Amino acid sequence: MRIKRLKLSGFKSFVEPAELRIEPGLTGVVGPNGCGKSNLLEAIRWVMGESSPKSMRGGGMEDVIFAGTESRPPRAFAEVVLSAETDARDDLEVVRRIERGAGSAYRVNGRDVRAKDVSLIFADAATGAHSPALVSQGRIAAVIAAKPAERRQMLEEAAGIAGLHARRKDAEQK
Ligand code: ATP
Ligand code: MG
Repeated sequence: MRIKRLKLSGFKSFVEPAELRIEPGLTGVVGPNGCGKSNLLEAIRWVMGESSPKSMRGGGMEDVIFAGTESRPPRAFAEVVLSAETDARDDLEVVRRIERGAGSAYRVNGRDVRAKDVSLIFADAATGAHSPALVSQGRIAAVIAAKPAERRQMLEEAAGIAGLHARRKDAEQK
């Protein structure tokens, strides 16, 4: 899977709609402290289905919505659109939107889907919100300190079999 485009609106410090094209090859994001570099990586994890507000550096999931500043009012919603190329289908567009008091809603290629469906798409492509492909600040120390079971989970995600476990659990419950 290759991420081609990212659109953010009302997400953390990205208050005005912003569009980023990610060209093939290596992309670097540079800027002064606090300009939003980590927020960008968090936006990618978030649209892939991240469910832990703590790992988004927030107390609740609504903390990803632009909170306002002295000169700008807060936003009512946050939205991230990720466009990617995959082996399975040519174009994939995933939208996650959160509104105050209404929770998150997801769309894949224009169709309403569940959070779980989005997680499965990325797990099958051996990527996703918890994939070792996304290394956030402090994560290296966490890998070193991880328990064997947690490390096994990281390996399974890297091997692309995380989605199979989720489906087995689902089948066992039926
Ligand atoms: P560093 O170089 O220090 O790692 P960074 O470029 O990674 O910095 P981020 O951590 O991505 O910076 O951005 C932090 C900024 O985002 C802070 O100024 C913070 O106030 C702002 N921010 C985070 N959440 C929100 C929100 N919900 N509403 C408004 N601003 C927010
Ligand atoms: Mg940072």
